[in-house]
Amino acid sequence: MRLIKTNEKNTVLRQLTTAEAESVRRYCGAGMKAEEKDAQVVAGILAEMHNGKEPRYWLECDCLDGDPSGPRPRMTARIYGDGPRHFVRIVGRDKHSCVLKAFRTDPSEDEDDAHAEPGKHRPLRPIRNSLDYLDKAHEAGGKRPSGQAGSGSGTSRRRRLPKLGRILYTLLEQAGFSTVSTNDLDAGKKSVSPWVRLKRFAVEEEVTEALTLGNMMTTEAWIKPGDFMAQVDKLQWPKGKKRMGYLLFVADGVSASAATKFTKVGPAVVSPASEIRIGGRDQNFANPPYWVLAVMDRDDSGIARVREAFAQHAFKMLEPVPLDSSYERHTLTSLLKVMEWVKKRGVTVTLKKPLFDSEVTLADGTTAHCRADFELEVPAPPGSMAAPGRLLIETMGADLQEYLEQKVATHSIMRRRGRIIEHVVRHDGEQADRDDRLRKRVFAALLELAGVPRQEQAGADDSEISKSEI
Ligand SMILES: [Zn+2]
Repeated sequence: MRLIKTNEKNTVLRQLTTAEAESVRRYCGAGMKAEEKDAQVVAGILAEMHNGKEPRYWLECDCLDGDPSGPRPRMTARIYGDGPRHFVRIVGRDKHSCVLKAFRTDPSEDEDDAHAEPGKHRPLRPIRNSLDYLDKAHEAGGKRPSGQAGSGSGTSRRRRLPKLGRILYTLLEQAGFSTVSTNDLDAGKKSVSPWVRLKRFAVEEEVTEALTLGNMMTTEAWIKPGDFMAQVDKLQWPKGKKRMGYLLFVADGVSASAATKFTKVGPAVVSPASEIRIGGRDQNFANPPYWVLAVMDRDDSGIARVREAFAQHAFKMLEPVPLDSSYERHTLTSLLKVMEWVKKRGVTVTLKKPLFDSEVTLADGTTAHCRADFELEVPAPPGSMAAPGRLLIETMGADLQEYLEQKVATHSIMRRRGRIIEHVVRHDGEQADRDDRLRKRVFAALLELAGVPRQEQAGADDSEISKSEI
């Protein structure tokens, strides 16, 4: 491979070393496994190719050097908005005989783990270091600001979550929004609004010694980016990190271009500079409310703006449990009902909406990862040394067959964490019966996990359910 001038003569600047060419192929060859050093090598080559204003050199691949019939494949360097330099193939010169036949901009594009064996995909993990909430000074956020988080047309493939989505999941999990306990079911917790909970959490979350998440996060969708950034400008900021902040709220409506929050004085509209991305299987913005996490910063000219945003389905405005789809909303409604029943029987249950993958050990000793739609945990009886009992609930929505098959394939892995109960949601004439069966099965399973004697359970069980359903 060689760098050549973008003028007519195509003078060769230099040949890439073998190691450099290998790095480019690992980094940009779709499906290749990139090594740690590759990103740096590629960034170095791109910096030679593009001076920040315009491309000065092309990268010409040597894989067709021996073939005089066609043009030699070339790539150029581009910068979109504030994003980093990256390769783009040149139309008409994009046919390779090497691994660059299948091209990706960078390894994160292979976020599609559809071909991985069930449970053997890269696990989704929370942000561990709160300093990672801040972008590095030179990178300015999402690599592909307008990219789709989850693929537009309802495709069922598993895609890797963008960093902003991972930050959103981390914040929601840590602030306790993905967990509901039977202890929360009465007025007590509901009287604390989600915004108050978020603020309480954020002021405790240290990013540096001098900076908490509360300093750089707002829940007020109506705030003007200029006013917000003026506050951020006053803060003591860690070196090497870009000044920025977060807006986190539950929106009444979301489209690809704007998130809207209704207020007493009219709708507050948040319009990021790039398209709003959306997580989960709910890709059509059709089932509000949604959690929205937006990034505010200054653009290259120093103008404050909402740079990008990520949305995730929420259960209800005042109970915004993060969900993946409206099918899950349907299932959760039934599960909360069952939690009310078991609470009356003195059983404590914690419902979790897992936002990250759990590791399980398979029978052959290897590890795999899974994430059920919901998990219900019952603490072991007092005095028992046993682990909490766990029940997994899987919502089988009216998804593509391929997606449902994938799900079933992961169920054998999930069973290592607990018994699975499936809930089919199709919204047809039999849905009420399915919901009823789900509630009865979950109720019985929870009492069993809690060690409530079966005979006592049977009689009370039915009367309790029928009473509650009237
Ligand atoms: Zn090539």
